[in-house]
Amino acid sequence: MAEIASVVLATTNKGKLRDFLALFEGSGIALRLPEEFGVALDVEENGATFEENALLKARAFARVLPGHAVLADDSGLGVDALGGRPGVHSARYAGRGGDDHANNRKLLEELRGSDDRRAAFVCVLALVLAGGAEIVAEGRCEGRIIEAEIGSNGFGYDPIFFRDDLGCTFGQATPEQKNARSHRAAAVAALLGKLGVAAGPGR
Ligand code: IMP
Repeated sequence: MAEIASVVLATTNKGKLRDFLALFEGSGIALRLPEEFGVALDVEENGATFEENALLKARAFARVLPGHAVLADDSGLGVDALGGRPGVHSARYAGRGGDDHANNRKLLEELRGSDDRRAAFVCVLALVLAGGAEIVAEGRCEGRIIEAEIGSNGFGYDPIFFRDDLGCTFGQATPEQKNARSHRAAAVAALLGKLGVAAGPGR
């Protein structure tokens, strides 16, 4: 596999960006943002799976950034007792994009009284190389949903996602603690493995 010096990360989510910057540290691959190239795209994520949505985003940005490797991710939370919901609808679960507290309230309401609190974050990464080759990698992170939000670190469902090994939610965890075990960390490690790149710190 040819060496990749940089990839353009197709995201506007500040929480994800923070995670990715930490996870690629030490990999030798620099992360760049579409805005550096004057590119802003709002890609409709109408795929049925995380993989379809990640590929939709990566391909759309790759089309307007010829000569660059483009990385996109799609991620979300699957709750066992809800048959895998919110899944690919995680970002807009309560109807409005980006309203994390509303999403958490809706999920907690749906799980009220349920003994089965098992859930998993999933992250699928799609990398489109400058020559057009596509690489997909997935990571998972298991946990359980507690009864109320605790902690203000991270983003999204982090304040209601509890990890027994940490004894706290991802909303209480430090970035280092989350990045050592998150779905995004597992997906980045899998991707770097496929690229033949040694993993960076935090994994
Ligand atoms: P998308 O991948 O941009 O479509 O949105 C993913 C959504 O899943 C986010 O808006 C969050 O609601 C949720 N999500 C994904 N990863 C995480 C995470 O690491 N912590 C908390 N919520 C997450």
